Amino acid sequence: MYLYLHVPFCARRCSYCDFAIAVRRETPDQEYLDAIRVDWEARRSVPAWEASPEIATIYFGGGTPSRLRGETLSEIIAMLRRDRAVAADAEITIEVNPDDVTRERAERWRTAGINRISLGVQSHDAGVLEWMHRTHTAEQVPAAIAALRQAGFANISMDLIFGLPVSLDRDLTRDLERTFALEPTHLSLYGLTIEPHTPLARWTNRGEATAIPDERYATEYLEVHQALVAHGFEHYEVSNAGLPGFRAQHNSAYWRAVDYVGLGPSAHSLLAGVRSWNVREWAEFSRLAQAGERLEAGSEALDPAARRLEELYLGLRTSDGLAEGNLPATARDAWISAGWATRSDGRVRLTAEGWLRLDALVTAIADS
Ligand code: SF4
Repeated sequence: MYLYLHVPFCARRCSYCDFAIAVRRETPDQEYLDAIRVDWEARRSVPAWEASPEIATIYFGGGTPSRLRGETLSEIIAMLRRDRAVAADAEITIEVNPDDVTRERAERWRTAGINRISLGVQSHDAGVLEWMHRTHTAEQVPAAIAALRQAGFANISMDLIFGLPVSLDRDLTRDLERTFALEPTHLSLYGLTIEPHTPLARWTNRGEATAIPDERYATEYLEVHQALVAHGFEHYEVSNAGLPGFRAQHNSAYWRAVDYVGLGPSAHSLLAGVRSWNVREWAEFSRLAQAGERLEAGSEALDPAARRLEELYLGLRTSDGLAEGNLPATARDAWISAGWATRSDGRVRLTAEGWLRLDALVTAIADS
């Protein structure tokens, strides 16, 4: 089984972020722990565990899980271990902001059993970080990496954002060079999107920010792809790349649509073809947990059409691709001649040019 824990707390909201977060100066660790215990109690013995009794991965995402105390993370992992076996080689990841990293904290994370770091870098440009309302500075990134390595972390992923407004004059090439110089094992590269109800959406509505033109977005994505390949990374999913042997096991489970359990506010689970999701807001989640009430906000069984759409989407977003028989031959041949896909070993795989058009390509064949 694959396990996700959503830790909703952040010091402040980044300008582009629409995640389910709770802005808190101090994290309410005990309250969070109590609520997670209630959620786990309801999910630790659902029937799907019979087919997959061992925990294969644990992922602390957020939010900013690195703001929790190390002892809280240890207690959560110990709670999981009490009820379920954790695989000896389980990947245990925590999302970390650079300003939260100290040698002491990093050592606590190692002691808790965490063996993989996902570091929220986004950019090495001071002006860009300020515009994003990030809490860290550019100088804190190499310092964080050094402290993590001293504490024994060898598997460090970094998040970067591309596709920023042209007016910011962000030097993507330099950001990529600085990133590779820090020798991460894995990179997640996300194109900026303007989500409703974010500070960025308000700036855009007021004419203070302008979305990057599509052509420039495509140029940046292809530059990122070429840089990844040049540095020996396998670009194995539309937004993710790793050195050989360092693909994200937890995220790969989502892309294979295998069962997973999500704990915490807004967390999703997929169990035996049924997707469910928890109450989104932390305050409500905590209140329900204290009252012993249901934390699940809704669920849906995927119908055949939804399953087909998901199968297409998940297959095409990774470098595993789709079995040829799953695609109409006319679409397949058209994609290959346009340079959007390749065909080998009975599978069709999108190229980076194809990934730029992923949504449109899936939509075009979904009803076939
Ligand atoms: S740290 Fe992450 S989750 Fe928190 S506000 Fe920023 S982008 Fe959103």
